[in-house]
Amino acid sequence: MENAQHNAPERLEMIRSRIERAHRRFGPPPEMVELVAVSKTFDAAAIRPFLDAGQRVFGENRVQEAKEKWPALRASYDGIQLHLIGPLQTNKAREAVALFDVIETVDREKLAGVLAEEMRRADKRLPVFVQVNIGLEEQKAGVAPREAVAFVERCRVEHGLDVVGLMCIPPEADPPGPYFAHLASLARDAGVKNLSMGMSGDFETAIAMGATHVRVGSALFGTRV
Ligand SMILES: *Cc1c(COP(=O)(O)O)cnc(C)c1O
Repeated sequence: MENAQHNAPERLEMIRSRIERAHRRFGPPPEMVELVAVSKTFDAAAIRPFLDAGQRVFGENRVQEAKEKWPALRASYDGIQLHLIGPLQTNKAREAVALFDVIETVDREKLAGVLAEEMRRADKRLPVFVQVNIGLEEQKAGVAPREAVAFVERCRVEHGLDVVGLMCIPPEADPPGPYFAHLASLARDAGVKNLSMGMSGDFETAIAMGATHVRVGSALFGTRV
């Protein structure tokens, strides 16, 4: 694929209009679908054109990488909202709370406790998503679907976390629709209103199933090497 930064505005516009069209045709009203531009592996020079084109919500999957890129970008652009979309180790929780605005990958009791403590320490209360291992895959992070509702409750009641939604990455080999529908039904049961689901290859399907946040990387930035 050619260098995405040369046509960042066009790519953004294309993805935004596909999101809008899918939302208009299939999505539940009334809220807008948030585009989380997944900039992992791309450097600041590749990200700037997207900021210049008005994009403000970005996703990164590694604390260390975010630390190298985003403080400088935040210094030159207002209103950036950075989502952590990758697994978080408890020993990186403090840095994650300092660097990110939303943590999408809360997936175990210990992490919930440590994050809550670090947020108190930093006097910040970041919105979080609980990650659900929706296909029960060995290699994937996330709480098991049947534990999701109780886990959300514990995050809220015992840890005082501001759980705003559920997040998932469905198995690559299967059609994603049923997994997205399952996540939506768990979110209703858990009483959370946001659903972070859908990537470059399937965000329209995710929107049809009620996604409020789609995480799009390669369709914006080009192929990752
Ligand atoms: C990399 C990544 C994405 C973006 O994937 P694309 O297929 O490039 O759009 C979305 N979500 C998570 C959790 C990721 O790690």
